[in-house]
Amino acid sequence: MKDYKTIKKNTPSNSNYRDEFKFLLNKSNTNYNIFPKMRLRRLRKSEAIRDLLQETHLSINDLVVPLFVQEGIDKEVEIESMPGIFRFPIDSILQEVKEIVTLGIKAIILFGIPLKKDNFGNSSFDQKGIVQQAIKIIKDTFGDKLAVISDVCLCQYTSHGHCGIIKDNRIDNDRTLSILAKTALSHAKSGADIVAPSAMMDGQVKILRDILDENNYQDTLILGYSAKQASSFFSPFRDAAHSLPSFGNRHSYQMPFTNLREAHREIISDMEEGADILMIKPAIPNLDLIYSAKQNSFHPIAAYSVSGEYSMIKAASLNNWIDEVSAITELLTSIKRAGADIIISYHAKKMAEILSNSK
Ligand SMILES: [Zn+2]
Repeated sequence: MKDYKTIKKNTPSNSNYRDEFKFLLNKSNTNYNIFPKMRLRRLRKSEAIRDLLQETHLSINDLVVPLFVQEGIDKEVEIESMPGIFRFPIDSILQEVKEIVTLGIKAIILFGIPLKKDNFGNSSFDQKGIVQQAIKIIKDTFGDKLAVISDVCLCQYTSHGHCGIIKDNRIDNDRTLSILAKTALSHAKSGADIVAPSAMMDGQVKILRDILDENNYQDTLILGYSAKQASSFFSPFRDAAHSLPSFGNRHSYQMPFTNLREAHREIISDMEEGADILMIKPAIPNLDLIYSAKQNSFHPIAAYSVSGEYSMIKAASLNNWIDEVSAITELLTSIKRAGADIIISYHAKKMAEILSNSK
């Protein structure tokens, strides 16, 4: 180490500690970091050592369960394209949430499926609407034990199935904003801890923050669906939430999956507008975006592992083509490794069971 000062002087001035350390190692003639002195397999030689050195740990606290509550049904209905996932009537939603809380999960995200739909999605802000009722009874029962996130969008509530109001065959961004704001306020009034605008309208986070603050809901968090892509992996959800657009597609508001730079602009605009949590959706096709969002912001990052990601694993495991337990463990851990602090997944309940059993 006697010539450390000389070495330090010769290292690039912008080097960090790790670079200097690497430089020192390379200077030595010990070759400790080259085979055969270095053998990485030593790190994997027993289960105890592997456990000791495990870098990424998925926790039950990371998981959020998506739940569908539907008006006009009297028992739960399994979603054909998502085996094991159900739409619940209001009467049995509490039983399901109880199971989720018993598993140790700390959050759910709620989607409502109303009976009444119209061109403007007016039932989305009905204080007696299905999702508002569900939020209220869940919060009345579980209080602060469980964080309730509510999805704020219009596609389940409009007769045309689009996420915004239509004028001259186009989505009218600014008219949609006022309905989204009313919807978010109705959720906050029912007790939602977090409102999650998912329509991909410009300005949706700002208008929600404004209306919440004006009505004394300063403590209601906003989870922005910051970079939500027009993804083929959403198809089973549309079956689940009855939200297939009756014409056209969502390409004029949801992002193209090809554009990473644009995704960052969406993320930055949500930060500027006051989002508390930034979300990327879908998750698996976007591990690079999750990683770079985590590196470039100090906000918590959420990732939504969507219906199609669930259905692929489920279909393969039902056919015995893949082992469900190891596949979902690997999939969800990879999302965390990429940088997600919060993972919304239809596998969440199963994952929580796996994590409890492995303790
Ligand atoms: Zn929508």
